[in-house]
Amino acid sequence: MSPSPDDRAEVARHLAEVKARVAAAAELAGRRAADVTLIAVSKFQPEGRIRAALDLGHRHFGENRVQEAEGKYPELKRLYPDLCLHLIGPLQSNKARQAVALFDVIETLDRPKLAQVLAAEMQRCGRLLPCLIEVNIGDEPQKAGIAPAETAEFLVYCSGLGLKIEGLMCIPPHGRDPLPHFRRMAELAGALALPTLSMGMSGDYATAIACGAGEIRVGTRLFGGRA
Ligand SMILES: *Cc1c(COP(=O)(O)O)cnc(C)c1O
Repeated sequence: MSPSPDDRAEVARHLAEVKARVAAAAELAGRRAADVTLIAVSKFQPEGRIRAALDLGHRHFGENRVQEAEGKYPELKRLYPDLCLHLIGPLQSNKARQAVALFDVIETLDRPKLAQVLAAEMQRCGRLLPCLIEVNIGDEPQKAGIAPAETAEFLVYCSGLGLKIEGLMCIPPHGRDPLPHFRRMAELAGALALPTLSMGMSGDYATAIACGAGEIRVGTRLFGGRA
């Protein structure tokens, strides 16, 4: 489906706005805007809006669910071979095969069992994808992610399995000031010498950039409301 003129205009405007704000936040933090990767989160978005972003030259996209991504992205990846697709939602072990086949980065590595299954699958098909460890930075009981205090040990475990761990990802506690959590993530990544930090969404990406985010995941600010 090709984008409608409305999709094109709206996505172009939003993309320009977000990029300008990324540049301003980076400059304020003494960082280079080029060191912040904008991941366009396309869950529940119509394909026309995704196509509009691709036509504008955007290449990093994020999806939450393997099944939803499988419905949209194989064709888009054929049309735009340099598209880079990030898995940012929970991954069940029984979907690991499909996830490794379709995604280019796995950002939600959050438990030993998943690490084992992913390592085996990546070895089987010869696709060693970069992975991020999801950290439950607020130590919230209901939330996915490795506890901050256990992240170092989990990193050693994953590396021992042959996984390529490039960084950490988090979703800070809802409705609270994300700043202390982003700072703590930056400390943790620094202590573990991991280069990539994926944090910051539509409402708080400027704060995340101030704290050193290398990847921000923005949905509604780019694409508008979700279906
Ligand atoms: C949906 C989602 C986002 C984007 O959220 P917005 O508030 O729409 O920018 C970012 N990260 C994760 C993990 C998400 O699930």
